[in-house]
Amino acid sequence: MADCLFCKIVAGQIPSKKVFEDERLLAFEDINPQAPIHILIVPKKHLVDLFDGSKDPALMGEIIARSAAIAKEKGLTDFRLVTNTGREGGQAVFHLHFHLLGGRQMRWPPG
Ligand code: AMP
Ligand code: ZN
Repeated sequence: MADCLFCKIVAGQIPSKKVFEDERLLAFEDINPQAPIHILIVPKKHLVDLFDGSKDPALMGEIIARSAAIAKEKGLTDFRLVTNTGREGGQAVFHLHFHLLGGRQMRWPPG
């Protein structure tokens, strides 16, 4: 999608610190980390949010399984995986992404 920040990162038009890449997924470090480890896992194809993503459950499964694999590679035994959906859900970038957060005590409930 032409005007999408994460599509531009996927296309290499905007630089990112890549953590993992295959044909369908890209993972890269969040530019404004909220924890010592803060990685974004995104589908390469443009999906707006989890409602959109849920049309491809296999891909959602890949993202979740890959997120756990990345957490393990990073040495995390405890972490949080979250996807903000819609403005009230805290979504600012409207290309589906999952936040992998770890390396500090997480708070609940989230703000
Ligand atoms: P959300 O609020 O769930 O839409 O999260 C968007 C995330 O994208 C935020 O955590 C931002 O820090 C992150 N972000 C914005 N621009 C970039 C960028 N150029 N590279 C990496 N992460 C980014
Ligand atoms: Zn996009």
